[in-house]
Amino acid sequence: MDESPQLHSRRTLSLRFDIPISKTREFWDALREGKLITTRCTKCGNVSFPPQADCPKCMGAEFEWIDLGTEASLVTFTHVRMAPASFAGNDDYTIAIAEVKDGLKVLAWLEGVEAESAKPGMKLRIEARASKEGNPYYVFVPA
Ligand SMILES: [Zn+2]
Repeated sequence: MDESPQLHSRRTLSLRFDIPISKTREFWDALREGKLITTRCTKCGNVSFPPQADCPKCMGAEFEWIDLGTEASLVTFTHVRMAPASFAGNDDYTIAIAEVKDGLKVLAWLEGVEAESAKPGMKLRIEARASKEGNPYYVFVPA
């Protein structure tokens, strides 16, 4: 099953959650406060991102929220110069995967770094933002 976030616009990545909609509220509320949180299985301790209701390791259904912090390390990235039709008219952009706490991989836009100077292993910071419509999202910026 593909767990990757879907791209919707230049500035916004949306996550597909496998948990009841009422529970995702905690994630978005935390993000509005600048915190990236996710779920940890209370049975086996497995941490998932995006948040999940059913543990992929032990199938446990009880979980707690943990703060992932704001530190990240760049794993890989894609710099897009030739945007698909739905992105036409936008500037170049960079999508990155970075490792955060507990070895979790997070996908987000990478800002403030020229693609030529981005290197795997470089230290990044997760920064919470709000779209023009007021929807919270997050990006990676250089630490
Ligand atoms: Zn578990």
